[in-house]
Amino acid sequence: MAATCIFCKIIKGEIPSFKLFESDKTFAFLDINPLSRGHALVIPKFHGAKLTDIPDEQLDEILPLAKRLAKAIGATDFNVLQNNGRIAHQMVDHVHFHVIPKPDEKQGLGVGWPQQPTDMAALKALFEELKPKV
Ligand code: AMP
Ligand code: ZN
Repeated sequence: MAATCIFCKIIKGEIPSFKLFESDKTFAFLDINPLSRGHALVIPKFHGAKLTDIPDEQLDEILPLAKRLAKAIGATDFNVLQNNGRIAHQMVDHVHFHVIPKPDEKQGLGVGWPQQPTDMAALKALFEELKPKV
C-alpha cells in the first residue's frame, strides 16, 4: 500500500468507490469518468505503478475477473486496456485494467492505430536485434 495513492485509498475505503468485486488480492470498481456505460477498473491490491512492478501471483485473478465483469455488465463488444507511463496515457500510478464497453462508434474507447509498413526481412532484422528473453 502507498499512503498517497488514490487507488490504495479506494481499496482501504478511505475514499468512496462503487465496488464491483473484492477478493484477497483483487479489487474492481466503476471508473469515475466513464468512456461508456459500465466502464470498470480491475486492480491488484498490491501497489505498483506499472505492470512490470507487480509479482505474477498478484495478477492471476485479473483477466478472469475482467472477463466476468464484461459479461456481468452485458458488454458484447468491449476493450480491455492497461496503460503504463504518462506518454502511454497512464494518469494513476497504481496498475489498473480498464474494461470498457463499446456499444457503438461514438462511445467507449477510440484509438489511433498508426501502423508502420514493414516486410519479413525488416521484421527478421528487428527480431535478431531484440531476441527478447521471455
Ligand atoms: P489511466 O489514464 O489509464 O491512468 O486511467 C485512470 C482512470 O482512473 C481514469 O479513467 C479515471 O477516470 C479513473 N479514476 C481516477 N480517479 C478515480 C476515482 N477516484 N474513482 C474511480 N475512477 C477513478
Ligand atoms: Zn496504490
